[in-house]
Amino acid sequence: MIEIDHLSKRFGNQVVLKDISLKVAKSNVVAIIGPSGSGKSTLLRCINLLTCPDGGQIRVGTQHLKFDGTTSCIPADRKLAEFRSNTGMVFQHFNLFPHMTAIQNVMEGMVTVRKQPKAIAREKALELLTRVGLAERANTYPDKLSGGQKQRVAIARALALQPQVMLFDEATSALDPELVGEVLSVIKQLADEGMTMMLVTHEIAFAREVADEVIFMRDGVVVECGPPAQVISAPQQAATQSFLARFN
Ligand code: ATP
Ligand code: MG
Repeated sequence: MIEIDHLSKRFGNQVVLKDISLKVAKSNVVAIIGPSGSGKSTLLRCINLLTCPDGGQIRVGTQHLKFDGTTSCIPADRKLAEFRSNTGMVFQHFNLFPHMTAIQNVMEGMVTVRKQPKAIAREKALELLTRVGLAERANTYPDKLSGGQKQRVAIARALALQPQVMLFDEATSALDPELVGEVLSVIKQLADEGMTMMLVTHEIAFAREVADEVIFMRDGVVVECGPPAQVISAPQQAATQSFLARFN
């Protein structure tokens, strides 16, 4: 479903992604772990074209893009816009539109990007809010929602465009500990429904539970990858071992 070949990205003189290659099979969940600054967010942002890769190739479903350093990821380009809408992204800080209610946030992309009639978009948005357990808060503005509720609206909003894959960048890192569980359970539900996902997370126990594969990144390279029973429970590389030792 996702195939990344020889992806590279630099910011100025700093090489942030060094020749990254990986595959995510349909309906699989891949957790990306690693120290701060290792390039985890940059990797997800490259897949969503929020950051433009310098080199390599990205395939998501049937769509394929090749980067050679001259490519620019201009949102106006139709092929890129299509590519981007195929991946739903959820951020640490929710990024909801503050002047819109929960349901308006979820409807927005369906109306503006997909040009769906408002009545249909509203109906689908309500279905999605029901799915994340927030039907009752449909007409509430983000500042009246808890962090966990905001994040669930953000997930519903990302799902509204019916992406083939979902990307989560530390979706629970900004939440109070008591609100983490409700967001993780929505992510778990998506995994059980067969959504293909890549999650950057510091929730090692959760990664062990839901991920089919875990990727440990450091300094822009994939140091180790494999099933959680291997990478988390019996890491082979010294760098992975010392990173995971912090969580014990
Ligand atoms: P964290 O766990 O702290 O979120 P990360 O693994 O997600 O870290 P990235 O955000 O991908 O790391 O950053 C990787 C490196 O790229 C860092 O050194 C960062 O400073 C640098 N970087 C990221 N975005 C930019 C940017 N827009 N311009 C310049 N440098 C950047
Ligand atoms: Mg990050």
